[in-house]
Amino acid sequence: MDLKKIAAWLSDNGHPEFRLQQITDAVYKKGSASFEEITALPEPLRNAIKYKFRILAIEPETILESKAGDAVKGSFWLKDKHKVESVLLNLFPGKWSICVSTQVGCPVQCVFCATGRRGLKRNLSPDEIISQHLFWANYLKKHRPGEKIGGVIYMGMGEPFLNYESVAESLRIMTDPDLIGLGDRHISVSTVGHVPGIRRFAKDFPQINLAVSLHAVENELRSKLVPLNDKYPLDQISKALKDYIYATKRKVFIEYVMLGGVNDSQSSARRLSEWLKGVASPKYFTVNIIPYNATAYDFKAPTKERVAAFSNLLLTLNISSTVRKSLGADIIGACGQLADK
Ligand code: SF4
Repeated sequence: MDLKKIAAWLSDNGHPEFRLQQITDAVYKKGSASFEEITALPEPLRNAIKYKFRILAIEPETILESKAGDAVKGSFWLKDKHKVESVLLNLFPGKWSICVSTQVGCPVQCVFCATGRRGLKRNLSPDEIISQHLFWANYLKKHRPGEKIGGVIYMGMGEPFLNYESVAESLRIMTDPDLIGLGDRHISVSTVGHVPGIRRFAKDFPQINLAVSLHAVENELRSKLVPLNDKYPLDQISKALKDYIYATKRKVFIEYVMLGGVNDSQSSARRLSEWLKGVASPKYFTVNIIPYNATAYDFKAPTKERVAAFSNLLLTLNISSTVRKSLGADIIGACGQLADK
């Protein structure tokens, strides 16, 4: 939604200034996704403005809800007929988070990721990123009245730091108390290890959570899994995280997609612990283990026993660790499965 253009149009057409505030509140605070829903506006104004402007920059194509009702995946058309996906997740009872996409496809091409297999089509605009939030807020209003979005994770399609400007603008809208107004600590941006992005993010958004998808701490294996590791290898990521923690005093979330027989051994857990302790004190890290959701590729899911043993060993080694519940696997909406199919 282009507030500047709407403000100019309202003014040119003789509407009082407070109409803009009514629109802003209805859209960002109350989950209205069309001008027809903004009943605070007089009907003639609603009828006129709906032909001039759109609130959402995305158009839903399909919306799929998981059987358990704890995840909803949306596939959306963009104006240029590209498609992008986004997921609404019920991580805790009554508390919803959304996983937003930042690019159409992704140039990083992690080998286990459905999005990466498609390559990059283009970056999303701030409006297209924010529209994902506005769509899901409206969805909850209609389907789960009274429930709200409490968190946003930038971990859908794309590497956020390869679209830094749009991501930064969307973060400003997410956190502006006059607009969406989410607390900084309720937002996480997840990078696969884009070092210049980590350094910039530390300066621009020191209170927003940083997550780094590591998956392996040996360059040879990591480069096979995450080709961007050739450009920003582990020693550069280590230095960037050291500086990040020194500057922000913030904890870093380490994402670890666990692939059966690849990075799920006890020795992998020990090496991960040593690598992290080489960066900073263990208190600055939480490792989120994400058991691989089998897609059509060459990897398999780790066994429950291997996942538990890995997590327990990290805890024994003083590294806080959680195993992410897989939500939405039946709707192809789990981590690494978004592919706009
Ligand atoms: S895991 Fe993330 S960075 Fe890697 S290809 Fe997929 S979307 Fe891109």
